Amino acid sequence: MTIPTVDHGDVETACPAWCTGEFHQAGGHRVDITHTSPETELTVPTATGPAVLLRLTLEQRPFTEREPGRDVFVSVELDGDHYACDPGQMDDIARGMAECATTVRSLARRLAILKETGR
Ligand SMILES: [Zn+2]
Repeated sequence: MTIPTVDHGDVETACPAWCTGEFHQAGGHRVDITHTSPETELTVPTATGPAVLLRLTLEQRPFTEREPGRDVFVSVELDGDHYACDPGQMDDIARGMAECATTVRSLARRLAILKETGR
């Protein structure tokens, strides 16, 4: 794949199979070339429709000089911020989500009892 840049002319990069090409930033700086997958949106049901908990995207920046480096990672969008995650950090997020689910279920049982007993 050839991507035109303002600072390095035409740049050759191998696009991963999962890349949509949406963030190649043609005509920009070489360090900003980014391979991205389609976004996976995780939602929960609410009375007014699905609400987004987080968004996950595979990402790789083949020419970056900054963190998280040039290896593939998963970008987790959570509460408006983006977190570059390795597999261990993703496992931490999954563990945290499971703990949150336990808390939500626990409060649901408490609410059911409060409603049943009227206090
Ligand atoms: Zn790409």
